[in-house]
Amino acid sequence: MTLNSLFKTYNRVDLSFEKGEGVWLEGSDGRRYLDMGAGIAVTSLGHAHPHLVEALQTAATKPWHTSNLYRISEQERLADRLCDATFADKVFFCNSGAEANEAAIKAARRYHYAKGAPNRTRIVTVEGAFHGRTLGTIAAGGSPKYLEGFGEPLTGFDQVPFNDLAAAKKAVGPDTAAILVEPIQGEGGIRVMDPQVLRGLRQLCDDNGILLIFDEVQTGIGRMGTLFAYQSLGVTPDILTSAKGLGGGFPIGACLATEEASTGLVPGTHGTTFGGNALAATIGNAVLDVVLSDGFLDAVKQKGLLAKQLLAGIVDSHPSVFAEVRGEGLMLGVKCVAPIGDVVTAARNEGLLLIPAGESTARLLPALVVSDEEIREAATRLDKAASAVESAEASAKA
Ligand SMILES: *Cc1c(COP(=O)(O)O)cnc(C)c1O
Repeated sequence: MTLNSLFKTYNRVDLSFEKGEGVWLEGSDGRRYLDMGAGIAVTSLGHAHPHLVEALQTAATKPWHTSNLYRISEQERLADRLCDATFADKVFFCNSGAEANEAAIKAARRYHYAKGAPNRTRIVTVEGAFHGRTLGTIAAGGSPKYLEGFGEPLTGFDQVPFNDLAAAKKAVGPDTAAILVEPIQGEGGIRVMDPQVLRGLRQLCDDNGILLIFDEVQTGIGRMGTLFAYQSLGVTPDILTSAKGLGGGFPIGACLATEEASTGLVPGTHGTTFGGNALAATIGNAVLDVVLSDGFLDAVKQKGLLAKQLLAGIVDSHPSVFAEVRGEGLMLGVKCVAPIGDVVTAARNEGLLLIPAGESTARLLPALVVSDEEIREAATRLDKAASAVESAEASAKA
C-alpha cells in the first residue's frame, strides 16, 4: 500500500482507520482517536451507527441503481420528508456539495430565463466563501488560491465583503439573479454571518425579485440543533443546498427549492446519472429517521452549548495558543494564535482529530451522537494539546 498511484491533490497524514464506532476511530498506528472532525462534518451519526448499517445492508440486496429515467421510491420518500421538514417544495438530488451548488446556480439562472429575464445571470457571493471545487463553484467562492492556474474563471459572480449589507445592496443590479451565502462559513474559518445581515439580504432579494440561496452543505442536517441553520436563524431562503451530513458518510447532495424557484429547471435542462439512486436515498432516509426523531435535535443544541462553554475555558487558559471560540451548535472552531498545523498535530498526538479551516481555525464538527462525556474528553485532550504547543514554543525560544 503506497501513495504513489494517487494524484498528489491532498497533503495526507500518514494514518488510516479500519475500525470505528460512534466518535471513536482506531488508527493504523494502533491508537484510539476521538473523532471531532467526522470526516469534515459528514459522518453525522458517527461510525457504524446500527440504524445506518441495517439500512445499508437491506438496500444492498435490492437494486442499487436504476437511473433517473424511472421513478425511485426511496428518492421520492426522501424528497417528501425534506420538504415536510423545511420551507422547500421541491428537491433535486446529486452526489456532492459542489454539485448541489451547481444545481442551485443553474436553477437561479433558469428561473429568470423562464420569466423572460435571460440577462439576470449574475450571483452575488461573499468573500471567504467556499462552495466547492468545480469550475463553477470555484468562481462562486472567488478564492484566488483555488482559481489560480485554471484559466478564465466562469463569469457572473460579484463578490462582496463578509457581513457587509451595504456592499451587497450596491452589488445587486438589473443583471442579478441571486445571492448565494453560507449562514456560517465553514472552510472560511467558522465565520458566523450576522442574522441581521441575513435578514437584510432576504429583504434585498424580495425588493429586487431575486433569489436567496443558502449553502448549508456544512451547517445542515442537524448541526445547529435544527435540521438546517436557517431554521435557527429565522431567515428563509428560496433555494438551499445540502450534502456532507445528509448521507452520514454515503455521498449524496441535494438542492432544495420553493416551487417557484424550481420552475426554470424543466425536463432536459439539468440532470445526473447517480443522483438520488436507491442506495444513496435509502441511507439519506435512515439518517433522517434518527436526526428527526423526538428530542434528537434539542440534545444537539444542549451538547453544542456544553462544548462551546468548555472550549471558551480552554481558550482563556491558553492565550498564546488560542484567540477565540467561534460557531454555533456542533459546528465550532477555535481561532488559533499558534500555527494551525501545530495545533492540529498536537491534538492528534493527544488522540484528538480536528479539522483545520481557513488560515488559522481548528474546527470541531463531531458526529451529532457525541455524548457529554465524549465532549468533556475532547476538551481535556485539547487542553493537553494546547499545553504541548506552549511547551514546544517555550523550548524553541530557550
Ligand atoms: C464542503 C462544502 C462544499 C463542497 O462540498 P463537496 O461535497 O466537497 O463538493 C460546498 N459548500 C460548503 C459550505 C461546504 O462546506
